[in-house]
Amino acid sequence: MNMAELLRRSVGAGAKRPAVAYGNQVLQDYQSLAARASALAAGLRQRFALEPGDRVALAMKNCPEYLEVLYGLWWGGFAAVPMNAKLHPREFAYMLEHCGARLCFTTSDLSAAVGGVTAGLPEMLEVIEAGSSDYEALFSTGETTQPHPSGRDDLAWLFYTSGTTGRPKGAMLSHGNLLAMTACYLADVDAIAPQDTILHAAPMSHGSGLYLVPHVAAGACNLVPESGGFDAEEVLDLLQHHHGVTAFFAPTMIRRLVEHPATAAADLSNLKTIVYGGAPMYVADVERALGVLGNRLAQIYGQGESPMCITALPKHLYADRTHPRWRERIASAGQAQLLMEVAVVGEGDRPLPPGESGEVIVRGPAVMQGYWADAEATAATLAGGWLHTGDLGALDEDGFLTLMDRSKDVIISGGSNIYPREVEEVLLRHPGVAECSVIGAPDADWGEITVAFVVMRGGAEPDPQALDRLCLEEIARFKRPKHYRFIDALPKSNYGKILKTELRKLMESQTAS
Ligand code: AMP
Repeated sequence: MNMAELLRRSVGAGAKRPAVAYGNQVLQDYQSLAARASALAAGLRQRFALEPGDRVALAMKNCPEYLEVLYGLWWGGFAAVPMNAKLHPREFAYMLEHCGARLCFTTSDLSAAVGGVTAGLPEMLEVIEAGSSDYEALFSTGETTQPHPSGRDDLAWLFYTSGTTGRPKGAMLSHGNLLAMTACYLADVDAIAPQDTILHAAPMSHGSGLYLVPHVAAGACNLVPESGGFDAEEVLDLLQHHHGVTAFFAPTMIRRLVEHPATAAADLSNLKTIVYGGAPMYVADVERALGVLGNRLAQIYGQGESPMCITALPKHLYADRTHPRWRERIASAGQAQLLMEVAVVGEGDRPLPPGESGEVIVRGPAVMQGYWADAEATAATLAGGWLHTGDLGALDEDGFLTLMDRSKDVIISGGSNIYPREVEEVLLRHPGVAECSVIGAPDADWGEITVAFVVMRGGAEPDPQALDRLCLEEIARFKRPKHYRFIDALPKSNYGKILKTELRKLMESQTAS
């Protein structure tokens, strides 16, 4: 089923309901969003002779046009390739060439950079800037069409993985994958009413954009902040003007919101849910966030290869503080989402009993169709019909999954495994520690030793002895960091993930100098 059918369905349910808002202004209702999507599909077919299945990229920062472009592409049966707006032009060029994109939509800030790298690409017909006269002309053929009858397995969204190691790979997400993600959201993450709003303060090329699909399916409003990104003050202001607001945030954004001086006193009654994921959130941060924001947190664990859909921890489980294992639960990533099966396996994909840690694997209707033009990586990642996530975790008796680290981040010291996250959780309990990240450093005696990079809260003095004492109280001696490096900020990706590769480089350069 074409995802554009869900847009049509919402027109049927409430044609005049707000579909797209920008700042405090509603720009489009459901009827006009669907009319624009249909017109764009017709314009693209007529002007560029695009065929169903053709790839069209989006190099766009968050903006109201994101919705009409995405749904216009689906309406025509084309595949969208949303790219992270903060990428380097060379990275755009790689993806555009790799997937053979025929067109690229841009926002004005990116037109020159994208135009500069597309000249030599054989498949590329044109770069079109949202809002330009060229862009508007695409909507004026006067033709109205039905959504293309895309099948369940047809490509809807080509999701390039963040590629912290090696070249990014294009996870092929079908209409069926997005439908499964929608069903899982509504079943496990949160209910959505047509009066609700989703705030797109995180990149629409990633989780926030994926969550546009269940919100359009439910007929809710998509709110794009004028800044096009995350700004705690703007978020607080928007909450005074919109109702039933949900946002998908990376843990770093939650921290920024929680620590903003105006948040504690702000009226949060319009804030319905903050869904977070994409990186671990430490228990100390979760507790602080629950204290400031109230019971409004939900968590998902997903991957580009199984979009937003592996496990979920809904709000009511965060709220259930009387449960004897509440703290373990909020430290976990929750249970398998409704349509997904999750297992933890050892060598040869042998399932491991509860409590033992191994690789997390997942199967179900949200798992990608494979990687674009990469049969070898597809075969390896989807071996045996399961998606191999590369994440390490353990299930408990109740099916709650605790994630450790990516296998490449595990430290092996004197033959024993050390999970950086376990050490990080302890360091974060120190009131002076704002953020930290633990990595392994090569060591002649031990193979590897533990090194902690620590960002202190404003005004707090670095005190390695105090951190060492804290570790001695909480974890085995061999796990505690042998060295502490105090830095001003941790290197992060555009999606807010801590870049351990950068920390390793930093460590090497400091050791060499
Ligand atoms: P991406 O494909 O860029 O969305 O990155 C997916 C990766 O982010 C996963 O494989 C995990 O390593 C990490 N991740 C996603 N959600 C969570 C979560 N809730 N807790 C911890 N790590 C997460």
